[in-house]
Amino acid sequence: MKIKCLLLTALLLAVTSAGFARPKAATVASNVIVKNLSAAQKAERLRSLSLTTFAKNPLIQTDDERAGSADTLSGKVYVVSIFISTPDNPWKKQDKLNTFEKQREAQNWLVEQAAEYDVELEFENGTYGLNGDDISVENIPVSDKTGKGMSTEWSSYLLKKIGYKTPLGLWDWVEEKTDCTNLQVIVFSNSKGVSYASYYTPGTDKEKYFVELALVHRYYPTGPELYSSTIAHETLHLYGAWDLYNTYKHKKEKDVAAKSKQLFPNDIMYRVSNNVAEQDINEVTAWRLGWNDDEKSWYKWFEPGK
Ligand SMILES: [Zn+2]
Repeated sequence: MKIKCLLLTALLLAVTSAGFARPKAATVASNVIVKNLSAAQKAERLRSLSLTTFAKNPLIQTDDERAGSADTLSGKVYVVSIFISTPDNPWKKQDKLNTFEKQREAQNWLVEQAAEYDVELEFENGTYGLNGDDISVENIPVSDKTGKGMSTEWSSYLLKKIGYKTPLGLWDWVEEKTDCTNLQVIVFSNSKGVSYASYYTPGTDKEKYFVELALVHRYYPTGPELYSSTIAHETLHLYGAWDLYNTYKHKKEKDVAAKSKQLFPNDIMYRVSNNVAEQDINEVTAWRLGWNDDEKSWYKWFEPGK
């Protein structure tokens, strides 16, 4: 049962001002100041998005145990946003700011959702490549919904470029310099593709994979520009949420999407909307996140691969 409670006070400044990760390379880090989009800019964004219907966000999801640097979606979470591009297609400053604004919108929404389950959540943000040059990479594979083009190597590759010998160096920094108990990296790529989350599985190389990351493309494969709901969706994967639509990970004989549509049509793991305010987090997803202890036997029916 979803616990509804009116903890609106928890909506207060959920996203704290930007902290920043240790600058170790010339291209790095600075505090973040995000200008709010004007009403006209927002209207323009919505208008352009509504021209194309894009109902679902395909993506990767294997089952996992909640483990790694993005552990439990509660308390304080340190988020490192990294802006990457190829030399022939750099970000424009304003586009980065707009994208980061969507990140803040996603975070605020997650804090609101957590409050509905009586869970306190707070985000602290650090960035690389937002104010200065983006992090330039040679190639950004176009990922698709079959899993092609997705990589688990971004964490070690990018953090090395930024100046950490291994991603665990960033984790050490967060432990030492902040009071956050979770760390996640979100890479914003000036490219088109299916966004995905890559998370740690115990037993794999901890040095390389412990720091968990989502790669978010600026454009969906069908053309529209990123919705903040996709950032929230990918973030939730890092904390154990399952996809609730039919993916290549789900067994073909199970119509997960049909069941989700019937039971929780607005759940963010079932679909992403260009208006995140109309979405919610259902009891299955909440259970995966550790927000709902009242496990019901049918929840596991939705498990990918089972
Ligand atoms: Zn997904």
